[in-house]
Amino acid sequence: MAMNNQGRPSAPVHTSDPGAYEETFSGSKGLDQAEPLIFERKTYGKTGVDFEVSTGTVTRLGTLVREGGLGLPGLSEPEAMRHYVRLSRKNYAIDLGLYPLGSCTMKHNPRLNEKLARLPGFADVHPLQPQSTVQGAYALIGELAHWLMTLTNMPAVAMSPKAGAHGELCGMMAIRAALDARAEHHRRRVLAPESAHGTNPATAVQCGFSCDEIPANQRGRVDMEAFKAKLGADVAAIMLTNPNTCGLFEGDIREIADLMHEAGGYFYCDGANFNAISGRVRPGDLGVDAMHFNLHKTYSTPHGGGGPGSGPTVLSEALAPYAPLPFLVREGESWRMVEDQAAAEAVNADPFGRMTAFHGNMGMFVRAMSYMLSHGADGLKQASEDAVLNANYVLARLKHVMTPSFEGLCMHEALFDDRFLKDTGVTTLDFAKAMIDEGYHPMTMYFPLVVHGAMLIEPTESESRESVDRFCDTLEALALAAKAGETERFTAAPRFAPVRRLDETKAARQPVLRWTPPAADAHAAEQPPSGG
Ligand SMILES: *Cc1c(COP(=O)(O)O)cnc(C)c1O
Repeated sequence: MAMNNQGRPSAPVHTSDPGAYEETFSGSKGLDQAEPLIFERKTYGKTGVDFEVSTGTVTRLGTLVREGGLGLPGLSEPEAMRHYVRLSRKNYAIDLGLYPLGSCTMKHNPRLNEKLARLPGFADVHPLQPQSTVQGAYALIGELAHWLMTLTNMPAVAMSPKAGAHGELCGMMAIRAALDARAEHHRRRVLAPESAHGTNPATAVQCGFSCDEIPANQRGRVDMEAFKAKLGADVAAIMLTNPNTCGLFEGDIREIADLMHEAGGYFYCDGANFNAISGRVRPGDLGVDAMHFNLHKTYSTPHGGGGPGSGPTVLSEALAPYAPLPFLVREGESWRMVEDQAAAEAVNADPFGRMTAFHGNMGMFVRAMSYMLSHGADGLKQASEDAVLNANYVLARLKHVMTPSFEGLCMHEALFDDRFLKDTGVTTLDFAKAMIDEGYHPMTMYFPLVVHGAMLIEPTESESRESVDRFCDTLEALALAAKAGETERFTAAPRFAPVRRLDETKAARQPVLRWTPPAADAHAAEQPPSGG
């Protein structure tokens, strides 16, 4: 089928072949409107509002005055409205259907949390307001910090990091500061399992460490012999995710922590998967020295849509003194934000520096606090248990047609690989594209890298059994279709999406971020809009 340069199907030729009727003349499908780029409308020189051409104003911009037109498309209000509504209908969203992405977690965004985050007393406070006027906001940050420390059994938490990766940076900078304080400048090697999220080695290197990969064993966990062999006087830390990115609990975690401490290094735990163990396991009991939360993956504010993040990082006794500025201290009934080095030293702290301009992502704090208070301590535990139950249900329902990568139970996500597609001519990518035709956003594909053609599925706690069943029925049917030789169902997918197969490598490596008008239109785009 012919595609235009945007990857959209071009209009079909007139034919008596019924198969060709899948393409429409308009490009729209079933009331889903085809929508070009806003610039492709060629509506330069038009505006949606009628302003008088201003006269008698004196510009003081001198030679900086713009000479040509801006080249912006001109749309009326209903045209602009339709453009964005049409685009929004092409989005898949957690409010639309099950979102099986693994290593991504939060799929539920209670409306209550949104409502509370929008309360003017939280939403409209300004970070430069006098401290006496934001005591309520500080009390909320303090209370959230208390919950985070309680859930982890850790003595301190840095609230300002604004994402998981930012929290990693915070923890690793604290580790670096602690090593520097011990004058152990030779400790520059950080161990990380090969299944680690890409941010882990990136963070280590960013902090001036080198990264050394630990292989996984047959069971998808850290290979203990390989780990022990890598310990040495130049090791600064281990960065470990638990449950790991294969959705498996690292059962040797206590021994890993002990061996790392004996070797003089620290234990950074990537807490992105904390939604699997929240309320059940306290990382402080496992010997962790630093761990970030992804509040946006664990306690509401779903990420994945590019929304804001928040990565508070808990710290052990050994690392707590180095927590970054600013931080809150409680003085009787009131709170004080410690903003600078001198004030920090006055409370016996030795911050490694500052990570953000202000105190962190207030809106996410409110959502997380609201999530925690509405669930209660027992509810947080139940959410973790249900997330694990749902993932194991998926594993149990699909293991006869798909190939689980590891034996036994999983935690919050179920990992399959592409062995069940062997000799079918269907790849993991094809399989995922066929899911789009069935109304499902694909699962996480080709990650983690430790298994071939990975398919990582995380239903989370908020999906009902009916919803998970419908999802499993679909995947089961697809797996059987692949095995039955219906290869084209997969290789030609997606057939019903607004855009079909794209050159994803090219899109990632050479993204076209700027629209340039075709030569014929360039002149029109440069003209100043005619008045009126
Ligand atoms: C998401 C994730 C991160 C990074 O968190 P961001 O908030 O996206 O920066 C790190 N590690 C793991 C295992 C993750 O899933």
